[in-house]
Amino acid sequence: MAEHTSHEGAREGREQAQVHEERGQARPAGRERAIGCHLSSSKGWAAMGETALSIGATTFAFFPRNPRGGNARAVEPDDAAGLRQIIETHGLAMPVVHAPYTYNLCSKKSDAVGFARRAMREDLERLELLPGCLYNFHPGSHVGQGSEEGIRLICEGLDEVIEPGQSTTVLLETMAGKGTEMGRTFEELAAIIDGVRADECLGVCLDTCHVWDGGYDVRDDLDGVLDEFDRVIGLERLRALHLNDSKNGRGSHKDRHERIGLGTLGFGTFERVMRSERLRDLPMILETPNELPGYEVEIALLRWMADGRASLG
Ligand code: FE
Ligand code: FE
Ligand code: ZN
Repeated sequence: MAEHTSHEGAREGREQAQVHEERGQARPAGRERAIGCHLSSSKGWAAMGETALSIGATTFAFFPRNPRGGNARAVEPDDAAGLRQIIETHGLAMPVVHAPYTYNLCSKKSDAVGFARRAMREDLERLELLPGCLYNFHPGSHVGQGSEEGIRLICEGLDEVIEPGQSTTVLLETMAGKGTEMGRTFEELAAIIDGVRADECLGVCLDTCHVWDGGYDVRDDLDGVLDEFDRVIGLERLRALHLNDSKNGRGSHKDRHERIGLGTLGFGTFERVMRSERLRDLPMILETPNELPGYEVEIALLRWMADGRASLG
């Protein structure tokens, strides 16, 4: 397939073993926790690295293209090299790149499915400039076709999109279950992972707002939810966290993020998350309604919680 050509080129010469080693490197060197937030890529990739450093972030997330549109700007190899240099020099964890919301691998419309597959393929080819990063996406909405057909279409799409041996791990995001959104239950995510050939390239990104809105009690029973995740999917698949408070109650299926501590989850939830031994090595990304100064405060707050110096709830 012609669209795979440049990707094959990018991979050439890379040792399989090295790829797997890179995939394991989700956190910065030393004991520093990997905490960051969503950053704008409008000034390029290296600029995001500089911004991350300026707000005390040790990882970050970004959209590889306009989150609502489809157009992707080319990435300058020098710009990518600049970001790799910053990551290496400062021991940042690899970014958790967020696929645009517009992709729906299980749409009813074949042109929408085709677009999602093409765009994801392009994103992953481009991300070979950032070897070992994570790429999370929303599994999609089955728009009335039913969960089973949704799972089938998502698996078919991922089989087409994932190039075995790619250095990027693709993460299914846990969803709130708005409308016909897929990925609300751990069972659905497990079924998708089961149905994909190159499942060694797959993991899960758990969003605290989404699982809570989806019905899982991460506020009063975090350990129980993680036990359940382990039983159904396997905790080794959990590769990243989105840390968001929620504007709505458990099981509301709304998906409205709130700033840390100010929503229905509250400070106590995030203290428990930050102190959980099972979560400490994961990159943690804030997607709260904030500008950079607000993110800087939240990152500091999370580090303070992780240190366990005081209790806020
Ligand atoms: Fe998301
Ligand atoms: Fe999220
Ligand atoms: Zn959300």
